[in-house]
Amino acid sequence: MILVSACLAGIPCKYHGGDNLIQPVAELIAKGLAIPVCPEVLGGLATPREPVDIEQGDGFDALAGRARLLNESGQEVTAEFLAGAARVLQIARRHDVKAAILKERSPSCGSSWIYNRLPGTTAVRRKLVDGMGVTAALLTKNNIQVFSEEQVTEELLNKLNRKI
Ligand code: SF4
Repeated sequence: MILVSACLAGIPCKYHGGDNLIQPVAELIAKGLAIPVCPEVLGGLATPREPVDIEQGDGFDALAGRARLLNESGQEVTAEFLAGAARVLQIARRHDVKAAILKERSPSCGSSWIYNRLPGTTAVRRKLVDGMGVTAALLTKNNIQVFSEEQVTEELLNKLNRKI
């Protein structure tokens, strides 16, 4: 079994209430090969919700207590992000998950790129930095391989199918 970001499967859990449907990801669920998870919803946040960025650093920094997550209004939502990541890890362990396909550039799901706020500014001034989101970092720390939807190819899907 693999985990996938729920928004990639067409579930409208994105901060603005939309989705990021990728057909091959939705097909994995239809075939019973993948479980959709949305760490932000699992952490107790509503949809729609304000967009959130890691203030500085990445998901590993947030897990270590060195970075905060702030929504557009500046409210801290670090606890919700940590709780959501922990719930996803619980689900992964229950289903013996070895890999995940997660949405790139998300503060939860990003696996190569995330956004940081520029210090002392609103989320309008943000920069793309390399790093993982909180859930991607926690899964990686626990030996679960994380791929982004941008890496989804026929070859990757076949490789994952052999692991499932
Ligand atoms: Fe998609 Fe992950 Fe954001 Fe949920 S937290 S909407 S699954 S990118």
